[in-house]
Amino acid sequence: MKNDTTMQALVLHAIGDLRLDDIPRPVPARGSVLVDISACGVCGSDLPRVYHKGTYSFPLVPGHEFAGVISALGPGVEDWRVGDRVAVFPLLWCGRCAACEQGKYVMCQDYDYLGSRSNGAFAECVVVPVRNLVRVPPGVTLEEAAMAEPAAVALHALRRGGGTTAGETVAIFGAGPIGLMLAMWARSLGATQILIFDVMPRKIEMAHALGFEHTYDSRQINPVQQIEATTGGAGAHLCLEAAGVPATMQAALAATRRNGRCVLMGNPSAEVALPAALISQCMRREIQILGTWNSEYSACGNDDDWTTALAAMRQGKLNLKPLITHRVALRDGVAAFEMIRQQSEFSSKVLIHP
Ligand SMILES: [Zn+2]
Ligand SMILES: [Zn+2]
Repeated sequence: MKNDTTMQALVLHAIGDLRLDDIPRPVPARGSVLVDISACGVCGSDLPRVYHKGTYSFPLVPGHEFAGVISALGPGVEDWRVGDRVAVFPLLWCGRCAACEQGKYVMCQDYDYLGSRSNGAFAECVVVPVRNLVRVPPGVTLEEAAMAEPAAVALHALRRGGGTTAGETVAIFGAGPIGLMLAMWARSLGATQILIFDVMPRKIEMAHALGFEHTYDSRQINPVQQIEATTGGAGAHLCLEAAGVPATMQAALAATRRNGRCVLMGNPSAEVALPAALISQCMRREIQILGTWNSEYSACGNDDDWTTALAAMRQGKLNLKPLITHRVALRDGVAAFEMIRQQSEFSSKVLIHP
């Protein structure tokens, strides 16, 4: 039921207590707009956020992977119009710290975040400062644009790892949506061999269906041995760890070739033991171990991960539509979270449509 003063939203009241509520419809402040959400993806990080770790404060509306249409302008907004289609960089940087001065917004010392610190987008609408808006190019659907955030995060990880090029072997650990996006970026950048590992047969099938022939179940095939077998014993030029499991972190380090790069991306689910022999190998091979976090964003759209991701979608180089396994109405959002948690159905990217 549409109403001017309230809206529906998925509200996290406490850890494990997500509810569909009517809450006040936000009003855009100076320099902000109101965005009617078309689609908001459930991120891998939303599950621990809802069920284990909680949001920064309660009650709070999660949801940070979204796109929509501007429905109202706050005072002083000039370059945007009602009806404009937008994706949104969800990190609200302070603009006053050393990292912000350099445009490294994800390193901001005092940031706010839509969907973990401020109300996010599992709601009918959300207020967004104009500097966080990214125009959605024609030809890109709002569903695709809602995946610009994970696509930018994946691209950022690849760029942290020095990118890739023809002749290189790239190994990806984890075939969730981010792992598959990593594989798509590696393919579009020209990597010669792309190997993907996971432990869930349906995820491996999905990777295969997307045209990746070297996809393996790492419960049956030892990833390090497989990578060595495919590279004449040398190892991969670039390993991307996107599972956050101790065994895959060790495997990613062990499978990185001499002078290669290993990018740590998956949030660690447990402590990781590093055997002395493995550390020694990392040293002797002089591998680079790189952390990656979030994505690079430019308020001017200056060649950042977001502009590149949306341009790649427009050109058809990055087709994320096959990753969508579920489209869910907001009123069914709580049930969708339960489904993902209990793995009662196979899911890759789940989009919530308010
Ligand atoms: Zn996310
Ligand atoms: Zn800052």
